Amino acid sequence: MSLSGASRVAGVIGRPIIHSMSPILHNAWLAAAGIDGVYVPFSVESERFEAFALSLRGGSVAGLNVTLPFKGMALALADEASPRARMAEAANVLVFRPDGTILADNTDGLGLLGAFAEQTPDFDPKAGPVVILGAGGGARGAVAAFIEAGAPEVRIVNRTVERAQVIADALGAKAYAMTQAAAAFDGANAVVNATSAGLSGAGALDVPLTATPTTAIVMDMVYKPLLTPFLSQAQALGRRTVDGLAMLIGQAVPSFEAFYGQAPPASVDVRALALKALEL
Ligand code: NAP
Repeated sequence: MSLSGASRVAGVIGRPIIHSMSPILHNAWLAAAGIDGVYVPFSVESERFEAFALSLRGGSVAGLNVTLPFKGMALALADEASPRARMAEAANVLVFRPDGTILADNTDGLGLLGAFAEQTPDFDPKAGPVVILGAGGGARGAVAAFIEAGAPEVRIVNRTVERAQVIADALGAKAYAMTQAAAAFDGANAVVNATSAGLSGAGALDVPLTATPTTAIVMDMVYKPLLTPFLSQAQALGRRTVDGLAMLIGQAVPSFEAFYGQAPPASVDVRALALKALEL
């Protein structure tokens, strides 16, 4: 990497940040495109996040991707927010404009829909109900994305049903308790795991995927491991699946455009690089 006084700087902020794949993706794209730029990881204590982000006003850092646990705080501190960030109540992108203002955006929904488009190209979000498992930030963004994409019904299933109800009321979806998952799966076009269950070391999600139609597509936002117990169960039942790594790459593409002013080059296989980094 060759840097200069004119290098364009962007990065990712979260806590912890050490396992982030984003520096690998963005720096590979920068190198392949021959852009004089760099993408760096930032980690701050939660109580320092707001002061840190506000100190970047003015554009010496072009922008930040924002990950756990700062996505809500990132939206709150911005001067302007895109409709999709407001709908998701979370920002995974902050752009620091030269005039000192901060723009918040959310590209997770684009990443989610892009993952379906890439791995199950015949998937039509308008063709039937979509089920989202979970009621955290990722789930809310997914509900917003599918409503925007024209899903005729979005059903939210969560361990704590009250959290699902809050999102359902805000965005126009239906809430279900985990014990009602079979009813939520009835006639589903797609099922998305947006809980953190299935992460390496965490417990698996215990839901009756047998109640989904054989045509349902099953997606997991978790990508470590790439083949989660949830996706493995779906594949054993013959369901087609979409993985969380495709979503991660899908949200990074518009982030790169926002930070570096051009689309990332198609010539570099960032999925292969990420798989290598995940040691898969
Ligand atoms: P979050 O806000 O912490 O929400 C976690 C959700 O998981 C809650 O709904 C929680 O239920 C549920 N949950 C946790 N453990 C569970 C278990 N054992 N059984 C059932 N439900 C459980 O997290 P988030 O930001 O929404 O992220 C969710 C997952 O998506 C994370 O693994 C994250 O890494 C992933 N993600 C991936 C991408 C990507 O690009 N691939 C993007 C965004 C997020 P309660 O409400 O009952 O506590």
